[in-house]
Amino acid sequence: MTTVILKPHKEESLKRYHPWVFSGAIARVVLDAKHKGDAPEEGELVCVRSAANEVLGVGHWQVGSIAVRILAFGAEELPKDFWAERIHAAYQVREAIGLIRPDNDTYRLVHGEGDWLPGLIVDVYADTAVVQAHSVGMHGCRKELAEALLHEIPQVKNVYYKSDDTLPFKAPIDGEKTGWLIRDDETSSSRDFEEYWSTENGLSFRIDWLRGQKTGFFVDQRENRALVERYAKGKEVLNMFCYTGGFSLYALRGGSKTVDSVDVSQKAIDLVNINVARNFPKATNHTAVAADAFEYLTKQKAEGKTYDLIILDPPAFAKHRDAVKNALRGYQRINAKAIEMIRPGGILFTFSCSQAVDKEAFRLAVFSAAAQVGRKVRILHQLHQPQDHPINIYHPEGEYLKGLVLYVE
Ligand code: SAH
Repeated sequence: MTTVILKPHKEESLKRYHPWVFSGAIARVVLDAKHKGDAPEEGELVCVRSAANEVLGVGHWQVGSIAVRILAFGAEELPKDFWAERIHAAYQVREAIGLIRPDNDTYRLVHGEGDWLPGLIVDVYADTAVVQAHSVGMHGCRKELAEALLHEIPQVKNVYYKSDDTLPFKAPIDGEKTGWLIRDDETSSSRDFEEYWSTENGLSFRIDWLRGQKTGFFVDQRENRALVERYAKGKEVLNMFCYTGGFSLYALRGGSKTVDSVDVSQKAIDLVNINVARNFPKATNHTAVAADAFEYLTKQKAEGKTYDLIILDPPAFAKHRDAVKNALRGYQRINAKAIEMIRPGGILFTFSCSQAVDKEAFRLAVFSAAAQVGRKVRILHQLHQPQDHPINIYHPEGEYLKGLVLYVE
């Protein structure tokens, strides 16, 4: 195996389980004898050693400033049952936090560095695991990983791979970036996508990972949706950026008077209607509209419409650090529009999933929005991503979802 030797003292962070080796920490690379080129191949497994030749770990080589992402610390090569053990450990965490229940089979099983599997995301929807690789190394391991999922997770019968949008753009990729890795004949091959349903806290959602965003569903809002349910009774609710209607279903179950779901995507709106019909077949108090958020709010305002509770869960406004300023302006603008439409004594649930926008900056943008429209607000809750999205202490970038619940006077 290719060996990466670090500069003196650069081993310290790895000994504290920091999962990355930066290219600047490397003294030299000793290539495996079978190598033709003069550098490791992207995605290749390499062993990392200190300047004193101590084994520090084994990981995937990457082109860029992060040169190695460590999979196993203190090991010269990947342990024989590595994938089974790591997947089993991730499952144990989800079991320990009470997520695996008859009324809940929707959860994130692997959250990258947060589960000691850098570059890998796995979401479980009933009998199907949907896998996303963010590195060439993880792409290369997809088959072993799929086998481990099948054997270690009792519910999983199918594994779908969806990495066309997440693999490094320029990297050389062998094989398909999307498609079934394992498909169980009995439960799956006869099924159309129309028939994939998953349960979150007792509510059914159709999951369309093929055409949907991310792995098909936003698993990260589960706890925050449950909080909306607690506050929904008797309220007129607007779920803006609703996608497949997660917050809407919880609000309906919480006894809301009405729920309006809005998303720019007609496909999302079709799914919201399907999900509402499945869970609340008799509901007459739900409307779903395909519209742009800004246009919808402007039009409703002109017509004098107001709400008791508004949820704003926009897509990431800043995908990169250099877009933060514009993103903050966007958050201020959309929050001002929403706050204006909340009746006195109403509630706003507002979120940012932009990792590059920190909690303080987001809070300032939301407070500026309230000031801009002359409304007094107080924070009732500060919200985060849930427990199945654990954060590695050395990888704060794994923390991305932030939300505020405001009481609006
Ligand atoms: N709240 C959702 C997730 C929201 S994801 C849930 O709980 O599942 C963000 C959504 O915003 C996407 O569905 C996307 O289609 C929608 N969106 C993006 N731009 C929009 C715009 N300008 N107006 C309305 N919706 C928009």
